[in-house]
Amino acid sequence: MFDVRKVPTPCYIADEPALIHNLEILRGVSERTGAKILLAQKAFSCYHLYPMIGEYLAGTACSGLFEARLGYEEMGKENHVFSAAYRESEIDEIISYCGHIIFNSFSQLDKYRDRVLAAGKKIGLRINPECSTQEGHEIYDPCSPKSRLGITRRNFRTDDLAGVTGIHFHTLCEQNSDDLETTLDAIEEKFGDVLPRMEWINFGGGHHITRDDYDIPRLERCIRRMQDKYGLEVFLEPGEAVALNAGWLVTEVLDLTENDMPIAILDTSAACHMPDVLEMPYRPPLMGSGEKGEKKYSYRLGSQTCLAGDVIGEYSFDEPLHVGDRLVFGDMAIYSMVKNNTFNGMPLPDILLLKKDGSFEALRSFGYSDFRERL
Ligand SMILES: *Cc1c(COP(=O)(O)O)cnc(C)c1O
Repeated sequence: MFDVRKVPTPCYIADEPALIHNLEILRGVSERTGAKILLAQKAFSCYHLYPMIGEYLAGTACSGLFEARLGYEEMGKENHVFSAAYRESEIDEIISYCGHIIFNSFSQLDKYRDRVLAAGKKIGLRINPECSTQEGHEIYDPCSPKSRLGITRRNFRTDDLAGVTGIHFHTLCEQNSDDLETTLDAIEEKFGDVLPRMEWINFGGGHHITRDDYDIPRLERCIRRMQDKYGLEVFLEPGEAVALNAGWLVTEVLDLTENDMPIAILDTSAACHMPDVLEMPYRPPLMGSGEKGEKKYSYRLGSQTCLAGDVIGEYSFDEPLHVGDRLVFGDMAIYSMVKNNTFNGMPLPDILLLKKDGSFEALRSFGYSDFRERL
């Protein structure tokens, strides 16, 4: 572990050795199968690390103009874009940055097909296999009823595929390869006539490949199935798996109060610095802590903001907390810096890099102007 007194708070720390550990796992999948793996920038856009990530992965996946430009300028490898719809004013610039343009409807395909083909770029269509494999997480399920993401079989036009060379799907979220296998079964059942007409398939993200219990051999069987049966080139675009458990958020205890139980006020915020804690919701890991009541001293950890629900969770410790103590939350690389905000005038955490030799490099620091200039 690093010296928590050496960093400013609040700060995110991108953990280079942990990132490299994940990237080696992902590169192994590519090397054994020939599948190309792209970083989904939505989860982790810490572009300072793109040159290093690009040594392991094939490129970037993006969701619109700004991510497309970031991937193009900072990594400069394969760049695939999917958006639920593209603006007329942006499509030409997007095409200039990306090799694969994925459409979400036949109307968007018809509108922009000629421009993509004239630029010599590839066209894909996102399908909706209508196969939900996650329960109770409708906000993260593109196969939920009335979903706007992906073309269902009923709306698919097999006679309008001129110029289309690929199929894209994205239906998983933090899932294992058994759910991918189930999804591929549904895709073969619904779109089995389309696959032989294609050159590539993109499995989207949501594959928790770098999690300890992830079944990598089954993933590789899924990849080979599409390669061998249909001759397809396979792409995957995980976000979480690239930077899973590869970041920290360090915060300081500002005050200790009491209301039915001890409360600690921190200089970080769930609402501002780790919004998925409230949105998903989940309880982030905290170094050296236990569940409430598990260790001798339990606290409710909350923020400086005025939002009553801005509480990170209830945790316990071996020793009582003191004002000035530093706490270190784990798994704070993904969906953290890309989603943070300055609600209530909260400062943004600085971003540091923990390098292989154990030293820190300051990547970004933020101040008042970052708050003011968005308003
Ligand atoms: C969110 C998303 C990803 C990445 O998902 P993770 O859960 O972070 O792996 C990839 N592709 C598309 C189209 C997405 O929307």
